[in-house]
Amino acid sequence: MSEQAPAEQSLVWGWGRRPVSRSRLIRLRSGEQADHLWSSAAASSQALARGMGRSYGDAASLAGGVLAETSGMNRVLSLDAASKTLRAEAGASLDKIIKAALPLGLFVPVTPGTRQVSLGGAIAADIHGKNHHVEGSFGRHVRSVTLSGPTGTSTINPATDPELFWATVGGMGLTGVVVQAEIAMIEVETSFIRVDTERARNLDEAMSLMQQGDAQYRYSVAWIDCLARGGNLGRAVLTRGDHASIDELSAKARNNPLAFHPRRGPAAPGWVPSGLLNRFSVAAFNEAWYRKAPKRELGRITPLSSFFHPLDGVRDWNRLYGPRGFLQYQFVVPFGAEDVLRRSIERLSKGRFASFLAVLKRFGDASPAPLSFPMPGWTLALDIPISSGELGPLLDSLDEDITAAGGRTYLAKDSRLPRELLARQYPRLEEWRTARQKADPEGMICSDLCRRLDLAGHH
Ligand SMILES: Cc1cc2nc3c(=O)[nH]c(=O)nc-3n(C[C@H](O)[C@H](O)[C@H](O)COP(=O)(O)OP(=O)(O)OC[C@H]3O[C@@H](n4cnc5c(N)ncnc54)[C@H](O)[C@@H]3O)c2cc1C
Repeated sequence: MSEQAPAEQSLVWGWGRRPVSRSRLIRLRSGEQADHLWSSAAASSQALARGMGRSYGDAASLAGGVLAETSGMNRVLSLDAASKTLRAEAGASLDKIIKAALPLGLFVPVTPGTRQVSLGGAIAADIHGKNHHVEGSFGRHVRSVTLSGPTGTSTINPATDPELFWATVGGMGLTGVVVQAEIAMIEVETSFIRVDTERARNLDEAMSLMQQGDAQYRYSVAWIDCLARGGNLGRAVLTRGDHASIDELSAKARNNPLAFHPRRGPAAPGWVPSGLLNRFSVAAFNEAWYRKAPKRELGRITPLSSFFHPLDGVRDWNRLYGPRGFLQYQFVVPFGAEDVLRRSIERLSKGRFASFLAVLKRFGDASPAPLSFPMPGWTLALDIPISSGELGPLLDSLDEDITAAGGRTYLAKDSRLPRELLARQYPRLEEWRTARQKADPEGMICSDLCRRLDLAGHH
C-alpha cells in the first residue's frame, strides 16, 4: 500500500522538551510511502524524517510542515553472523537491533548513551559513542543506505556516490528519508563489559589519565562533577573497558553469556515542580556519587546496559527537569585547546548552573562527512535546566571561545547556537550545501534547526 494515512496535526518537541512546534505527522510504513511524501510535499509543504525524537533541540521538528515519523518502518531485514552485517529499516531502534543481534554474538559498532534512537537518526546525526577514540562515529560503519528524496530513491554507498552518502551521514535528515541501511556489526562473546573505574581529583588529573591510558581501552569516558570548585574543579570518575570474554564471566553467567535483560525502572513522574532539581540537590547528588565510586577498581564485569545506557532504566527521565525543560550543551575543542575546556568548566561551575554529571571524552579521527560533529579533541556534554536568565549570555560567550579555538557544538543537541557561528564551526558547510542542493533542488526538505541556523544557505 503506498497511500499514506491522513496526517494528524501534532505538537512536537525534542528530548529537551523545548522548543515546541506544530506539524502534520505521518507514520511511514514503507519506502514507497516515503517516496509519496515528495509528491504530497510538492503540493503542500516541506517535509522531514523523524526518528525517536531523542535529539534534544529542534533537529527533528518542522513547524507547519510534514514530519514523516519512522517507528512503523522498523524491521530488522537480515543479520549475517558470517559477514557481521545487518540490514534494517531506518525506524528500527538500536534497542531492537541489539536484542536481535546479541544472540548471534554481534553488537552495534557504536552506541550512544541510550538505545532508544533509530537507525536513521544514528546515521543522520553521525552519532558517536565511548569508542570514538578508536573506532570513529556511526557513519564509518555504514555500508549502504537507501535514501528516498525529491529526486528519487537510490541505494548508495561510499564508493558509488560518496558525495551524497557523506552528505547524508551527519546531514540531519536534510538530504532525504533514509529508508533502510546496512551496517557492519562487531563480534562479541558476551553481553558484559569488563570495566576499570578510577577517580580523578580534578580536571588535570582526569585529562592526564585519559591521555595516558585511553589507547588501551575500546571504551572510555569520564563523568565530571561540574559543581566542584577550587582544587576539586573538574573532579571525575573514569570508566573504561571492553567487551568481556566468556572465561571472564562467573560460572552462572557463563551458562548464558549473551543474555540481555536490561532493567526497566519506574517512569519519572509526569509533573515535577521546576525547582526540584536545583543546585543544592544536584550538588548533593554529585557529591554522593563521587564518594561512592571506588578510588580504583579493575576488571568489574558489568552488564552492557548499565555501562552504556544507565539512563534507559528510568523511563521519561527528561521530565525530571520540570515544565521549563532543559538544554543539553555539547561541544568539542581540538587537542591543544585544553585551556578553553578548563575555562568553560570553571565558568559553568562558578555560575552554579546545576547539571548532573557532565561527560568528558576524547575523540579520535574525524569522519569524511562534512557536517559530522566529532573531530580530534576533547568533548564535553552536559544537561542544564532552563531556569536562569544568566545562562543564555554565558553560553553565548562559551560558544565564542569554543569557535575561536577551532571547536564546534553538536547539532543533534543544539537549540540555541547563533547562526553566524555555524560556518566558522563547520568549515566544510559549503561542500555539504552543494551536495544537499543536488539532492533537494526545490528545497522540499527542511527542519526547524535548518531554518534557525540557515543550514541550507537559502538566506
Ligand atoms: C539520553 C541520551 C543520550 C544520548 N547520547 C548520545 C551520545 O552518546 N552520542 C551521540 O552522538 N548522541 C547522543 N544522543 C543524541 C542522539 O543519539 C541523536 O540525537 C540521534 O539522532 C537520535 O536519534 P532519533 O532516532 O531519536 O532521531 P530524531 O531525534 O528523531 O532525529 C534526529 C535527526 O535525524 C533525522 N532523522 C531521523 N530519522 C531519519 C531518517 N530515517 N532519515 C533521515 N533522517 C532522519 C531527523 O530529521 C533529525 O534531523 C543522546 C540522546 C539522548 C536522549
